[in-house]
Amino acid sequence: MGLVLPEISIVVPVYNEEGNVEELLERLFSIMSGLTTVTAFEFVVVNDGSTDGTLERMKPLLARFPMLRIVNLSRNFGHQLAATAGLDAARGEAVILMDGDLQDPPELIADFIAHWRAGYDVVYAMRRKRDGESRFKLITASLFYRVIRRLTNVAIPVDTGDFRLMSRRVLVALSHVRERHRFLRGLVSWVGYRQIGVGYDRAERFSGTTKYPLSKMIKFALDGITSFSEIPLRFATYLGFVTSGFAFMYLLIVLILNILHLNLQGYTSTMAAILFLGGVQLIGIGILGEYIGRIYDEVKGRPLYLVADVLSADGVIAE
Ligand code: UDP
Ligand code: MG
Repeated sequence: MGLVLPEISIVVPVYNEEGNVEELLERLFSIMSGLTTVTAFEFVVVNDGSTDGTLERMKPLLARFPMLRIVNLSRNFGHQLAATAGLDAARGEAVILMDGDLQDPPELIADFIAHWRAGYDVVYAMRRKRDGESRFKLITASLFYRVIRRLTNVAIPVDTGDFRLMSRRVLVALSHVRERHRFLRGLVSWVGYRQIGVGYDRAERFSGTTKYPLSKMIKFALDGITSFSEIPLRFATYLGFVTSGFAFMYLLIVLILNILHLNLQGYTSTMAAILFLGGVQLIGIGILGEYIGRIYDEVKGRPLYLVADVLSADGVIAE
């Protein structure tokens, strides 16, 4: 690409999006070339170990779009890590992160750039409406944004995904935050600087199905909560105190009944106490485990992702 650095980078993590990549890049290209204020732009598509024809569909596009780079990861690392790989590879003064399924309308980019030029460091897209998603996804997503808002100590805007523009200094800050269980939108809020939201209507997927089944959504929600809040740990402590309080009172009652020779047949009450205390203990251990497992992952200090190779119009750059 020579020495000219792009002004704007567009970063797209994709995993099995063979039906979307061509349409996406064509739409992005026509929108970006229509923006007369932008001097130079680049596309960084991170192929997150796709097992379908995603890569094959993209290869012919390299010749048509010389500003395209394809970063092939060595396997599937998950959306948040693939996005991180893309942000690390981006060279623009401002970087736009978006999904590869056209749920994030490229038409919003002009708005993003206008706000960036007006001095904002982060311009995030807030979903006003979501088409074509199940009631279940809508309800759980909305619940999640509100729970995490109450639990965490950084102000993470509600109904906001990862579709956003970030300035170079936000990217530099993020490049110093190398935690594994990444909740990118939380980290971006944590960075600070001048941030602003713009509303949009979230479209349906252009093709294919969601790559976020319920199991991944739960894991993602737990990552978000544990990486930004200690409240669950405190909840375990409070639960312990409350339960001990009740247990102590009940102990007194049992002792008095015993002294008065009024003690009852014990099986039911013994079982109730054992099961109840067992349950409370397991909840406490489970909460601890969520944090300890993540500490364990962090101390291992493995790289967040591995790049297999980078493809561009100039050829293959092996890592
Ligand atoms: N994605 C990815 N790696 C994964 C799962 C998803 O790179 O392991 C990409 C996916 O291709 C898409 C984006 O992350 O570009 C968002 O995924 P999806 O659209 O399935 O999530 P949803 O919009 O349903 O929440
Ligand atoms: Mg999607």
